[in-house]
Amino acid sequence: MSRTALRICPLCEATCGLTLTVDGTRVTAARGDRDDVFSRGFICPKGASFGAVDSDPDRLRAPLVRRDGELREATWEEAFDAVAAGIRPVVERHGPHAVGVVLGNPNVHTVAGALYPPVLLGALGTRSLFTASTVDQMPKHVSSGLLYGDANAIPVPDLDRTDHLLLIGANPLESNGSLCTAPDFPGRLKALKARGGTLTVIDPRRTRTARLADRHVAVRPGADALLLAAMAHVLFEEDLADLGALAPHVEGVEELAAALGDFTPEAVAGSCDVDAATTRALARELAAAPTAAVYGRIGSCTVPHGTLASWLVDVLNILTGNLDRPGGALFPQAATDKTPRPAGPGRGFALGRWRSRVSGHPEAKGELPLSALAEEIDTATDAGEPVRALVAVAANPVLSAPDGDRLDKALDSLDFMVSVDPYLNETSRHAHVVLPPPPPAQSPHHDFAFNTLAVRNQVRYTRPAVPLEPGRMAETEILARLILAATGMHGADPAAVDAMVVEQTLGKAVRDPHSPVHGRDPRDLAARLTGENGPERRLDMMLRLGPYGDGFGARPEGLSLQRLLDHPHGIDLGPLRPRLPQPLKTRSGKVELLPEPIAGDLPRLRSAMDRRPAGLVLVGRRHLRSNNSWMHNIPALTGGSNRCTLHIHPEDAERLGVRDGAAVRVKGAGGEATAPAEVTDTVRPGVVSLPHGWGHDRPGTRLTHAATVPGTNVNQLLDGSLLDPLSGNAVLNGVPVVLTPVT
Ligand code: SF4
Repeated sequence: MSRTALRICPLCEATCGLTLTVDGTRVTAARGDRDDVFSRGFICPKGASFGAVDSDPDRLRAPLVRRDGELREATWEEAFDAVAAGIRPVVERHGPHAVGVVLGNPNVHTVAGALYPPVLLGALGTRSLFTASTVDQMPKHVSSGLLYGDANAIPVPDLDRTDHLLLIGANPLESNGSLCTAPDFPGRLKALKARGGTLTVIDPRRTRTARLADRHVAVRPGADALLLAAMAHVLFEEDLADLGALAPHVEGVEELAAALGDFTPEAVAGSCDVDAATTRALARELAAAPTAAVYGRIGSCTVPHGTLASWLVDVLNILTGNLDRPGGALFPQAATDKTPRPAGPGRGFALGRWRSRVSGHPEAKGELPLSALAEEIDTATDAGEPVRALVAVAANPVLSAPDGDRLDKALDSLDFMVSVDPYLNETSRHAHVVLPPPPPAQSPHHDFAFNTLAVRNQVRYTRPAVPLEPGRMAETEILARLILAATGMHGADPAAVDAMVVEQTLGKAVRDPHSPVHGRDPRDLAARLTGENGPERRLDMMLRLGPYGDGFGARPEGLSLQRLLDHPHGIDLGPLRPRLPQPLKTRSGKVELLPEPIAGDLPRLRSAMDRRPAGLVLVGRRHLRSNNSWMHNIPALTGGSNRCTLHIHPEDAERLGVRDGAAVRVKGAGGEATAPAEVTDTVRPGVVSLPHGWGHDRPGTRLTHAATVPGTNVNQLLDGSLLDPLSGNAVLNGVPVVLTPVT
C-alpha cells in the first residue's frame, strides 16, 4: 500500500518541499508540496526524479575495502578498522597536515555534511583542507569577509520586493539559484516583471534567464569586474552615489571614489566589449530605481578577478543605498544561526594565515585551493610534508577540479584514501575504503547552510521518509565513526561525538552574557534536549539557542525541534529584515568599503583594461537537469537539453570549418579534449561553452548509465595554475582555447 511522506529536496540550492509517494520502502513519485511554507508546490525535473535518484541501482549498498588491489564489499566494522589502520600511522609519522580533507558540495545539502566535517577538521588539526568552494564561490566569501568581517555574511537579493534586479554571470532559470536560496526562482523573476520591475542580465551567453530580461548585455568573459568598476565610477562621477540610511555604517567611501577614478566606461569599453553609453545606462538605471539589487554568481566568480567582481557587486548595492533595505540585498537570519551578539567591533577577517606548501597559495577561510590538491600530494618540498592520506567526503575532484589526469595519478600515490560516497566514481575508485551513505529518502533533512542564504526567513525539517535498509548505516553515524577512527578513538560509541559537541556548545553558551541561557547549568540544559538521536538533539540545541529559539524556556513561544516537528510543512519566519550593524564583525565595526587586500589587487584589474585576448575563450554553462557531476547516472535526467556539447557561434563555426554535430578538438593550457559542436547564436562570437561535471569515461567506476554518455571533462583543459589570487578560486571562465575540427 502506498503512502506519502514529506522530504525537502536536496538536489539543488532551492530546497523545495516535496511530497513523496512511497510504496513499501521505495519512492515511486515526487511532487511539489503545496503547503510548504517556502516553495509552495514548486518542483523542477530534478526534484520530480527524486525516486529515480534515490533508487539508482548503481548506489553502493555496503562499504568497500581494497584488498589485493581490488575494492571488495566488506562489513562496516572491517571498513572502519581499515580507516583507523590507514590514517593513524600517517598522522603519527608525518603530522596532521599530511592528512588532506576534501569536501564536495553535496556536503551542504545534507545534515551529516553540515554537522560532522567541522568536528573532523578540529579533531584532526589539519590545515590541508580543500573544498568545492574554491572552484565555485570562494570569491564571494572573501569579499564578504573583507567588507563585513564575516566570510559567511552574504547578502541576498530581495527577489520578491525589488524593483530592479541586475544579474551578472548567473542563470537561475537553469541553476534554480545559487548563494541565493529561492524555490521557483523563475516564477519570482516573472513576478518581478509582472509588478512592473526590470530585469537586467549581464552574461556572454543569451541564456534562458537573459531571454527573460529587459536588457541583456553580452559582456566579454572575465571582464565582469571591469564593467562593475566602471558602473561604480559613474555613480561617483555623476553624483548618483547615495548611501541613505547606510551611511553611518560605512567607511572608506571617499577612498573608494579615488581608487576607481580611472575605471571610466570609455577606458573599459574595449576589454568588456560594452560601449560606454550602455555602462552609463546600467549605472543610472540602478541609481534611479526605487529599490534595486545586484546579484553576481558563478560566471563572475570563476574568473581572474573573481574577488574584485564579487566585492563590486556589493559596492554597487552599498553606493545606491540598497544594501540592507527591503527590495535591495539583505542578510538572512537563519533559525540555527548563533545567538546574535550586540553590534560593535569584531575580530575582522584574515587571509593567508598559512600558505600551501608547494605554490604558496594563501589560505582563505581555512581552505587551500582545490586546484592545488594534486601538487600538494605529488610534489616534495622543504616546506613540509606532502599530503599522504586523504579523506574525501562527497567529493569528485577528478572531474570537478582542474587537471583531473594529474589528480588521478596523484591519488594513486597516496598511502591511504577513504571516500564517503554513494558511488564508485572517478575519484572514489582510488580509495582504499569507500563508505556509502544511504539514499536521500533514508536520511533526515534540514538546510543548515541554505537557510543562511534564503530570500525569506523560514525553517523546515524532515525526518527520513523511509527507514534505513538493513545493512545500511546513517550518514551521520558514518561520519561520527570516521571521526573516531581518524583521531585515535576507533571503536568508541559514535554518540560520544554528538555528546562532546553538545557539552562544548552549551558550556560556551552559559558563559556568554548575551545568550538566553547565560548562567544556567549546561548538564540541566543537555538533559532537556529532545530528539531521537544525536543529530536531532544537536539540531534541537541549535534551534533553541538561535535567534528565534525558545532559549530553553526563556522564550516559551520560540523554536525547538518539537515545534518544528509539529509543523511538518515548515515555519515561516517572515521577510528579510534590515540587520545592520549587528552582523558586522570588522575591526572597525563598520562596512569597510575599500579593504587593503582589495585596494592591493586593483592595479592588477587596472592592467587588464588594456588586455583583450585575440582568440576564442571558453565559458561553462548550467543545465536544469544536472548539478555539477551529480545525477549523470540517471537516465531520466540525461539527454534533452542536458548534453555535453560545445556551443559555438555560427560566425566562429564558419571561420573555423566547424559543423553542427561534428566533433571538435578543444585545446587549453592544461590539455585537450574532444566534444561535439553545437552551433548556436546563444553564445556571443569569440566565446565557446562547455558544461562542467562530465567526463565519465575513466575505467574502474560503477556508473553504468553515465559511462554510456560520458561527455567531456572540461576541467581537463586547465592545468590548475590559473587562480584568482585573493581567494584561490580556479579560473574556469574566459579561458583561452584553440579549436580544431576533427576530420
Ligand atoms: S529546484 Fe532544486 S530543490 Fe527544487 S525540486 Fe528542483 S532540484 Fe529540487
